[in-house]
Formats: sequence, structure tokens, C-alpha cells
Amino acid sequence: MDAAPFWKLKTLAEMTAEEWESLCDRCGKCCVLKIEDMDDGTVHYTDIACKLLDCGTANCMDYENRRKSVPDCISLTPDNLSSLQWMPDSCAYRRLHEGLDLPAWHPLVTGHPASTRRAGHSVAGRVFPESAVEAVDIIDHITEW
Ligand code: SF4
Repeated sequence: MDAAPFWKLKTLAEMTAEEWESLCDRCGKCCVLKIEDMDDGTVHYTDIACKLLDCGTANCMDYENRRKSVPDCISLTPDNLSSLQWMPDSCAYRRLHEGLDLPAWHPLVTGHPASTRRAGHSVAGRVFPESAVEAVDIIDHITEW
């Protein structure tokens, strides 16, 4: 009988750096602009990409140095899981932290890196560049991912 996969055996804090990185499904949902409702704290996602996001592939164009040009980019680590409240429901880190399993379309489950996009969970090709949207129009771009 095959052993259970690492994400079912370990907590997030127990994972190796490689395991931790592999949890990201590359959906890009955390790389869109978000608006926080000042009255109730609700976080609304938009379909406007961070300036470093490649809108066609949903990959960060400068991942290693991203905090230099986007200082408020959330860099998830086992030590700042409180940031997970900003993450979408489908985010693997958030799901595991909340005691859920990975979704059936997750690349670690399917064995295919493209399965996130095939399942409709990637923002690739579905977002506008930040430079193309006027600040006053951002509210019109609130989107349910
Ligand atoms: S939302 Fe989660 S799974 Fe998706 S790109 Fe961001 S960190 Fe990775």
C-alpha cells in the first residue's frame, strides 16, 4: 500500500522548503489587486493583475526580487500563517491550515502542472494589467475567483 502523501502526514510547519513550495498551485489568485472594505474588513478580489504578474501565464515576472518593487507582496511562510486570511478559498496553504484536503485538480494530486488552469482556477488570460485600469475604475473590477 502506498504511503499517504506528505501534505496528509505533516503540518505546514513540519514541511521541508521543497514541500512547502510545491503546495502552490500557481493559480495567481493572490497576485491580483484586492480591496478591503473598511467597514467590515471584507477583502474583495479584482481581475487586475499586480504589475509583476504575467497576465498570460499567471507567473510572477520577478519572483526572487518581487518585494523590492512590490513591498506589500505577501510572502507566505510557516511563521506568518495569519496572512492566510487574505488568500482565496482554493489556496492550498489556506485549505491545509483549515484542515481541508487539496482539491482534486491540484497539480500534486493530478501530477500535471497545467491542471490548475484546466480546472478553471488560474487567473492566466483572465486579468487586466494594472497599468490599463484607472484608479477610479478599480471597484468595477471586483471579481469572484
Ligand atoms: S493563492 Fe495560494 S496556491 Fe494560488 S498562487 Fe497564491 S499562494 Fe499559490
